[in-house]
Amino acid sequence: AFRAGFKASYGGGVVSCPVSYVLINFLLSVLYQLQQEAPRPKRITCPQEVSTSVFLQFHGMISREYADELLSGAEGSYLIRESQRQPGSHTLALRFGHQTFNYRLFYDGKHFVGEKRFESVHDLVTDALIILYIETKAAEYIAKMTTNPIYEHLGYTSLLKDKMVHRLSRGRTEPRRVTFQRDEKISSPLVRRSALKDTPEKQCFYEKIHNFKVHTFRGPHWCEYCANFMWGLIAQGVRCSDCGLNVHKQCSKLVPSDCQPDLRRIKKVFSCDLTTLVKAHNTTRPMVVDMCIREIELRGMKSEGLYRVSGFSEHIEDVRLSFDRDGEKADISASAYADINIIAGALKLYLRDLPIPVITFDLYSKFIQAAKMPNSDSRLEAIHEGLLQLPPAHYETLRYLMAHLKRVTMFEKDNLMNAENLGIIFGPTLMQPPELNALTTLNDMRQQKVVVQLLIEHEDVLF
Ligand SMILES: [Zn+2]
Ligand SMILES: [Zn+2]
Repeated sequence: AFRAGFKASYGGGVVSCPVSYVLINFLLSVLYQLQQEAPRPKRITCPQEVSTSVFLQFHGMISREYADELLSGAEGSYLIRESQRQPGSHTLALRFGHQTFNYRLFYDGKHFVGEKRFESVHDLVTDALIILYIETKAAEYIAKMTTNPIYEHLGYTSLLKDKMVHRLSRGRTEPRRVTFQRDEKISSPLVRRSALKDTPEKQCFYEKIHNFKVHTFRGPHWCEYCANFMWGLIAQGVRCSDCGLNVHKQCSKLVPSDCQPDLRRIKKVFSCDLTTLVKAHNTTRPMVVDMCIREIELRGMKSEGLYRVSGFSEHIEDVRLSFDRDGEKADISASAYADINIIAGALKLYLRDLPIPVITFDLYSKFIQAAKMPNSDSRLEAIHEGLLQLPPAHYETLRYLMAHLKRVTMFEKDNLMNAENLGIIFGPTLMQPPELNALTTLNDMRQQKVVVQLLIEHEDVLF
């Protein structure tokens, strides 16, 4: 049956790799060969076919013992009976290793006994036999599979090598955490501002966890962590939807947090996880933040009510769409959007729409508690401590934004914006409680404002 599936995906015209690839891999893998040897399903037909069920192989309510007898002939034989203990429910009886296994069988358009869902009972049994066979024959091997992963070093095989070299050459450089050293040369806001324009910070070493989702592979696939065959008919492993790494489910827990998202897989800019976005674009901060701030510093610093006056919401939406579509090529210049409030609005929208706020859910209450402290020194100390626990990409974004807002307050005479009213605006934008609760949100508003106000006022010592 697996061969049939194999043929369907390789012989049937859906060929994605050359035959030699398949052949060479075939020789490489013990587990692949085992899968080939697994017993094939044999349906035991019922002499008086009961047609009242959605299941073709239904034998009605026969005893466990009788089912056992019917199946005793061959490995891989199976039938479906009605449970005597729970009438109305179905049991799949399956012969493997000279014993009969009984599973509660469900149907909701697809057939399943566990997590995996199948088009037919035949497929389900095929998969069950593969899993039983491999796990029996190679239990010890499977247990040891992850002890010497190929993931960390090069030179496994010429087949996987290209892919591995490619993967390893990306982002596996020390140090893993960014170091937050203040550049002494850039001390005055004025000099810093000019430095904003073209900072060549084109590399980042942020850690990012993989975003694994259960995946069904067509044709044989090998785990990119342990290099072993991913057995089974469907849902053989997991795939990272950000970088495309394919591994066994059990290997996914061992893969380091070194996901390097592939730009082709990251469809959006707005509402994309902050770390994912900066890793995908290989930047220190989200380019939306850099680009909007650059534009605002260029032509909006003296604009009255900057960040308070809202831009026309359809135009803000337009900016969002162009970032999602064009990425760093989005045109947000004065010729495209003359009103600077549109750019300021887009920046606020970007920050507000992050799936994890800049001040993360995990650290939210730490910051709120800090703001409640009566002593101003310990309050700053607590906020500083919180900042150091932020994920590096979040920390860098916040630092950059606060330096910018500090500069905004230097033009208060013109723009009428100070740390306090910017705190009111950016408090709920940068901080959101982990659980949406109207009362908490209302109660915390004061503290949110205090946090952001302090971050702006003490930007130079806190970061
Ligand atoms: Zn990944
Ligand atoms: Zn693996």
